Amino acid sequence: MSGLQELYQQVIIDHSKRPRNFHAMPDATSQAEGHNPLCGDRVTVYLMSKNNTITDVSFTGSGCAICTASASMMTQFLKGQTVEQAQSIFSKFRDLVMGAPQPPDVADALDKLAVFSGVRKFPIRIKCATLAWHAMMTALECKDEVASTE
Ligand code: ZN
Repeated sequence: MSGLQELYQQVIIDHSKRPRNFHAMPDATSQAEGHNPLCGDRVTVYLMSKNNTITDVSFTGSGCAICTASASMMTQFLKGQTVEQAQSIFSKFRDLVMGAPQPPDVADALDKLAVFSGVRKFPIRIKCATLAWHAMMTALECKDEVASTE
C-alpha cells in the first residue's frame, strides 16, 4: 500500500471512529432517512437551511466504517454551501465513487472527499459511501420519504 493510500485510510478510520456532527437536530428545517439493506447501514441526515444556504448539517444512525465516515465528512463539507453547490458536489462525489470519468478539476473540488475514490474497487461499498448523500439530497428536496440506494 502506498503512503497516500494509507493516509486516505486513516482519514476514513478517523471519521468512522469519531464521526463529526453526529447528533440529532430537533430544529432542523428538513431531514431524511437513508437505508442500505445490502450492508445494513441506516442514517438520518438533518439540514438547517436559510436563504438557500445550508447553515448546519448533522446525522445519526448506524453503519459500517465507510458509511459513517462518508456521512461525517459530508456534514463537514456541506456546512455553508448553497443548495446548488450541495447538489453539484453530490453528483461529483457519486461519479467519483462509481469511477465515472471526470474532468481533472473534480479532485480539487472534492478536496478531502477524494479519499473515497478507492471505493470504486469495491462495488458493494459504493452504496455505503453514497447513502448519506442520497439522504441529504432527499432532505434538500424536502421529500418526506426514505431515501434508498436501490
Ligand atoms: Zn455499509
